[in-house]
This record gives sequence, C-alpha cells and structure tokens, in this order.
Amino acid sequence: MADIVAPASERAHRAAKRYIYAWGGGHAEGDATMRDLLGGKGAGLAEMSNAGLPVPPGFTITTEACNDYFAAGEQLPEGLWDDVLEAVHEVEQLTGKGFGDPANPLLVSVRSGAKFSMPGMMDTVLNLGLNEQTLEGLIALTGNARFGWDAHRRFIQMFGRIVLGVDAERFDQAFDAAKHARGVHADTDLDATALAEVAGEFKRIVREDTGHEFPTDPYAQLDLAIKAVFASWFGKRARDYRDNQKIAHDLGTAVNVVTMVFGNMGKDSGTGVAFTRDPNTGEEVLFGEYLVDAQGEDVVAGIRTPAKISHLADEMPEAYAEFKEIAGRLERHYHDVQDLEFTIERGHLYMLQTRSAKRTAAAAVKIAVDMVAEGIIDKETALARIEPAQVDQLLRDQFDPTARADATRIAKGLNASPGAAVGRAVFDADTAVEWVGRGERVVLVRIETSPDDFHGMAVAQGILTARGGATSHAAVVARQIGKPCVAGCAELVVDYASRTARSAASGVTFSEGDWLSLDGATGEVFVGALPTVSARFEEQPDLQTILGWADAVRRMEVWTNADKPEEAAQARSYGAQGIGLCRTEHMFREGERLEIVRGAILVAQEATRAKAKAASGASLGAEEAGVVATFDAAMAELEGLQQGDFEGIFRAMDDLPVVIRLIDPPLHEFLPNLEEQLVKVTMAGDDASAEDRQLLSTIRSMHEQNPMLGLRGCRLGLMIPDFVKIQTRAILNAQIAVKREGGHPIAKIMIPLVGHVNELAATRALLEAEAKAVEAKAGVQVDYKFGTMIEVPRGALTADEIAREADFFSFGTNDLTQMTFGFSRDDAEGGFLLKYVEDGILPVNPFQTIDVEGVGQLVAIAVEKGRAARPDLELGVCGEHGGDPESIWFFHKVGLDYVSCSPFRVPVARLAAAQARLGSELDK
Ligand code: PEP
Ligand code: MG
Repeated sequence: MADIVAPASERAHRAAKRYIYAWGGGHAEGDATMRDLLGGKGAGLAEMSNAGLPVPPGFTITTEACNDYFAAGEQLPEGLWDDVLEAVHEVEQLTGKGFGDPANPLLVSVRSGAKFSMPGMMDTVLNLGLNEQTLEGLIALTGNARFGWDAHRRFIQMFGRIVLGVDAERFDQAFDAAKHARGVHADTDLDATALAEVAGEFKRIVREDTGHEFPTDPYAQLDLAIKAVFASWFGKRARDYRDNQKIAHDLGTAVNVVTMVFGNMGKDSGTGVAFTRDPNTGEEVLFGEYLVDAQGEDVVAGIRTPAKISHLADEMPEAYAEFKEIAGRLERHYHDVQDLEFTIERGHLYMLQTRSAKRTAAAAVKIAVDMVAEGIIDKETALARIEPAQVDQLLRDQFDPTARADATRIAKGLNASPGAAVGRAVFDADTAVEWVGRGERVVLVRIETSPDDFHGMAVAQGILTARGGATSHAAVVARQIGKPCVAGCAELVVDYASRTARSAASGVTFSEGDWLSLDGATGEVFVGALPTVSARFEEQPDLQTILGWADAVRRMEVWTNADKPEEAAQARSYGAQGIGLCRTEHMFREGERLEIVRGAILVAQEATRAKAKAASGASLGAEEAGVVATFDAAMAELEGLQQGDFEGIFRAMDDLPVVIRLIDPPLHEFLPNLEEQLVKVTMAGDDASAEDRQLLSTIRSMHEQNPMLGLRGCRLGLMIPDFVKIQTRAILNAQIAVKREGGHPIAKIMIPLVGHVNELAATRALLEAEAKAVEAKAGVQVDYKFGTMIEVPRGALTADEIAREADFFSFGTNDLTQMTFGFSRDDAEGGFLLKYVEDGILPVNPFQTIDVEGVGQLVAIAVEKGRAARPDLELGVCGEHGGDPESIWFFHKVGLDYVSCSPFRVPVARLAAAQARLGSELDK
C-alpha cells in the first residue's frame, strides 16, 4: 500500500494547532507514549499499526481538540473540520473506498477514547456513512442484503440514541414488535425485508422524536458524531465514573475515526474481546469471548451469550492462530496483560483495540509475580503495577466456610469479580444509593447493567446480573472498583415491575429488601446474610512475595496501632515492625476496671491536693488521709492490672519497639454522662444514694465546654500525676517481668498533646524519676525512651525546643488535623465536611488523606526543626493517615522513619511505602 501518511512532525493542518494523528498502511503518526493527546485507544491503535499488526486505517482527533471545543462554547476549533476532511480523504486512499460513494462505500466508527480507560462511560457510533445509496453499494459489494439492512438499522438505532438523543427504549420496543410480528426470538431470525421495515420504522421514530429527518449526508453524520463523542465526556455517567476513580475532569476525550470492518458478515465473521491472561485468576491462558456473525456491541452488552475464545480454535483455526500470536506479541511489547478487541471479517482478522487489562487483585498479584519469573518485567515494575487498594481487597472478608456449607444456594452464575458480598436486594441504582444513604447494605440485582447503573454499583456491596458474560459491563466495572460480582446468572428471572427475582433452578423467589449473599469467586448466590471471616494472609504466597519485594525497596518502616496482644500478634503476622501507638485508655475501661477508675476519679482531685500538702511538710487530717488511702488503693489495683496488659503486649512484640501512649482522653469520658446522671438523681429524689449525688457533683465539677481542648493528654498528667505515674511503673515492671523470662521488651513511653516544651519537660522529669526508681528497686535495667506526640500546632512550630526533651516524635495527625483546620473530629465528618468534599470545597476528607499544604506543612516544619535540634530523633506518624497510601507518599517524602497504622492496613502500607520510594526516585 502506498505510503501517503506524512511523518508525525510534518502533518499539514489548517487549524491553529495540530489536532489530527492518522494511521494505516503499516505505520502511524502517533505512538504508545502519546496517551495524553491521543487517549488510550488512539495510542494503542497507533502503536499496533507501527508494529505492523492488521489495524483498519483511521485517525485520532486529539483530547486537546475536545478541550478547545468546550473552551470555545462547543464549537469545533477553526480549521479542524478541513483537517478532518483531509484525514478522511487519506483513509479513502488507503482503503480504496469512498466516503459516501455508493459504488464502494467507506463506513467508519467514531469512537471515544480518553487517557484513562473508562469502560462504556462514553459514546461510540458504528457504521457511520450509511444512507440508502451507500447501503445499496454495500449490499451489491457483499451480495448480502440481510447484512446490509442489519448494519443500517443498527446505525440508525445507535446514531439516533447517542447523537440525536432518542430514547433507546423506543427502538427496542419497535425491534421487539418486529420480532413478535414474525413469531421469532433471535435478532438473527429477521430477514432482509424485515430489517428494512425495522429501519424504516426507526427513521419514523427519529422524525417523530426530533422533528427532523434522519441525516443522510455522511459528512453531516460525521460532524454530529464527533461532537456527540466530545459531549459524552461531560455526560453524567462519565462524570460519576471520574469522580469515583479520581480522574481529572479536564483531560478531555479523543475521538477515533476508524474504518469499519464487519463481524456480522456471516458464519466466517465474528467479533470478540479477549485478555492475554485470565483477569480473574491471573492464570496464563487466553481468556475471552466472541460471537459469530455479530458486531462489537453485542458482546459487551451481553445480549447474546458469547462462546469462549478457546472455541474459536475449532471454528476458525487460522484466525485463532493469528490472534493468539498477536496477543503474545502485544503482551511482550507492552510488558503487561492486554485487553484486546478484534473483529474477523470473512476470515480476515483485524485488531481494534489493545490496552492494559483491568484485573482483580488476586490476578494483579499473580501476574506481577509470574511476569517477573518469566523475565517480562523487573521487580520494581511489578511493585508499581499493584494498587494498594488491591492488597486491601485481598485481605477482605470471605464467607465463613461452615455457615456457607449449610447455606441455601439458590442460583449460580459466572464468578465475575471475587469477594463476599452481603446486602439486601435492590433492583435499581437509584434505590441502591437511597438505601445506602440511610445506612443499609445492598446488593444490586439487574438483568444486566449499563453505564447508567454505575452510581448504584459504586455503593453496593456486590452486583448480581442475570445476563452477560465475564466481559460484560457488570463484570468489567465490578472488577475495577473491587466489588464482588456474579454475572450472567441465567437461571434468575428478574422482574423489575414487581421488584422480585425468581431462581428457576431452585424455585426460590426473593424480593426487594431480602438479604442476599454473593460469592464473587465461585458465582454462587445464597439467600440470607452469611457470616464472613477475614481473608487469610498466610495462604497468599504471591502477595507475600510482592510484599517481600516491597520490604527490600522501602525506606520507611511500617508499624502498627494496636492496644491488645491479639491485635499486636495479628499485625506482626502482617509484617508490622513495631507498635507505633498503643492507646492505653481501654485499660481503664474494661470489665471491673471502670468501677475502680470511677472510684479513683471521684477522689482524684482531693487526693492530689492532699498529697501536695503532705509533700510540702504539712500533716494531713484523718479525712484527708482516708481519701489518699482510697485513691492509692484504687491506683495500686489499676497498676497491677495494667502491668498484666503490658506484659502481654511486650511478649507479642518481643524484640520490637512498642510505643505506649500515656492516658489521653479527658477524665469525664470514664464517668456517666452528665444528663443521664442528673436524670437519675432527680428521678430518685430523696431516695438518691450518696454515691450517685457525689458522682453527679464530680461530673459537674469536671464538666468542660470544649473537652477536646480541655484537661486531657499531658495536661491531665500534670494536674493529677498519679495516673501517668502508675502507668509508667506498670510499663517498667512489665518490661522487667518479661526480661526475666528471657524476652527483650522495648518501650517507648509517649506523652500526648504537648504544645509547650515545659509541659514535656515537667512530665518527663516526673516519670523518669519513677522509671529509675522501679529499675533500682528491681535491680534490673530495661530498654525505654521518652518521647512525645506532635499533634498540637504549637508543638509542631516549636519542635526544635520540644526535641530537646524528646527521644522521639510521633505525629498525631488526627488531632493535628482537627486543630489545624479547627474541625471537630467528633462532629465534622457527620456534618458539613463530607458535603465540603462533595462540593469540591475540599479536595479530599483531610481526616483520611493528609492535607499536604496545611497540616503537612506543620509536619514538615516539625521534622526539620526536630532533626536540627536532635539529629537522631526518631520520627513516625500514628494518626489514621499512617495507613493511607496517598499520605504515605507524603510521609516518605518528608523523611519520616516509619508509619503506624491499624493491623489490617499494614500490608497496604508496606506496598505504599515501597511505591513512595520508587516514585520519589523517579521524581529526582
Ligand atoms: C492522633 O491524634 O492522631 C492520634 C493518633 O491520637 P488519638 O487519635 O488517640 O487522639
Ligand atoms: Mg491525638
């Protein structure tokens, strides 16, 4: 074929910018690196052409054209249309066909294609260029009237719906009526005459709906279709999808105009979608589906149930062999699993798309490990390929095996996306959103899903469809957003009108609101809410391999927030390298302890005053001495109990550091609520007990308007020192006991809520004396340090002064966020904050992902000042952000030594810390 396509740098254009990149005849003007400009599809088509693969000629109109179109108030940029005409002309020359030429018509598809794949979220028009004249030509050339009329009716239907905005249902009803009138069921049972009638009816519908004739000029069709594809970038479903996937709204979509090839030209034609490896399991087999005598949308829409790709080897062996060879080449070329679209036109294979395949978490991990073993990628690439959220998914719950064995299975469909989902059945996306909004868990049940259902899928626990295969919309989207999905459950008869579904196999009917359990890994559907169990990390060797590689790469350590020995052990099995936050307040609350604590609090202030008096040399009266004795007895009891708690934790974390934070919450949290106590005493009247009255007066005396800014953290320790003294003694004695058993306990005693260095200095002096006394008494030395939390803005700003008194800092980014924004942690998220995020006032919820510019700046200042004052200062973070992958990037960048997060997030943090390291190397 003649080489008429100018090299990339030289393509002439009338528009002010170059908006068009063409391909065909064995090469292309663009390539795989140009995804920003050409979109994923355009870049893939260009790259495949460059590789000499059979790609029908065409051209891409860039994403920049889309953005300029919107910037100009939905007008094509000046000159672009002339450039389109020129590009169409080139395609005509490459194919030897003419656009609008009745003798040898060129038909094209007009396809959307953004930088990031947005499956089914934007629009595509096929068979463009057809009118009554070109149709005649098509029929004459193919000798197949049925094919011609089928293509024509499809075009009117698709163009009518997408470009002209006609309700799709009207076409569907007319089509069903035509089938019904002839007593047939399948589309393929309608002959040419019937399809010609359908096409006529479709045109009538368009006329009636739009008030205009269906456009017959191919160039007018092209102009309208290009604009419709641009417009679909801002369609509701595309916007919803981008919000969910955090894709920027200003990227724009490219438009690909591609020569049509036909999979519906008879039994030697077909179309399909295939992955170079199984996207569910990662297994190295060609995985996919195809339909004979069909066009692409038939496969994706799940209207007919397609055959497995392996079957193609029997049906069309030559095309299959060529496709298999190309699939292997593309995978090696891109060093990644590819998701391919192909069409076979009368035995000739054409490649229509290649892109990196979406895959389940399990597949992602297996593929990454396998590809390293096969020498296709290196370990660093493997690490970059796994999303932290996928690691999270692999640790997600599964059904309890015993409960599952006893459960009533009502149906089985395709295991489209793994995981266990439990929720109440709802039958449409809006209901899903509404129910979830009022706190329900739902499973979305649909005959099949379409992109319009995305908002419901995003909030559902799982998705169940009656139709469609493993590459149907439901399956692809569910895998991507990590939702369990059972698709193509053919035995299910879903009735939207009565909001019920009946399983033909089991005879069981369920209605809206009934509980369902879906196993996306096996495709099973159960009635009722099955209990779930946590996924077993130990049984996932590939995941462990990946995390092992991550450990070798990352600079930051990953510690955990754990308060109990069981949690510590769990986190350790997930790879935690220490405890970064052991909150001790639960040790005051559990079981009989609360009563002891309350008893102590009632007399705490009086006892503290009496002790101060005695310390100054004055003698105490009998009543004062009695109060002190009561208080001390309660404290001694608590000390013993806490020592037991700490021993358990030190044993579980032997040889690893344990940061124990001294009591933090305001004392009133251990007392009954003021209102409740007031009601109790008032209702009892004269019968109210003396204790209840005293409790009420204590609660009143301790009442604060802003308790989160009140007597808590180190302030509490300074006002009533016994609480923190007994905790310190309990820690040291626990260490001594464990050391005597042969263990190696490492304690880091953390003083919270420090805003001024003097607070820390005074507390430290008090507690260090206590610790030394314990060591001296036992004649044993143990490993401990004193440090502080940086969680008050003033603490961060004066970190240099504070560092002189601290061996370590741990950033309490929960409080630091609260105090930096002035947002109440307890109220904001239930109130305005999520609305702020929804309305774009804040880009993200700052309690989930660190606010880099504000709170992050304070962290950076404290790191710098702290290290300047004390170079060996150990720095970590223990707020919720420590387990958030995006925040972990920031913590790596700012130079923290470790992040600490909940046990469940430890594996995610290991990967995220490695990715942060790899990412920051790239930044250099
Ligand atoms: C913090 O404030 O970030 C923190 C870890 O402490 P807490 O959440 O217990 O206040
Ligand atoms: Mg805090």
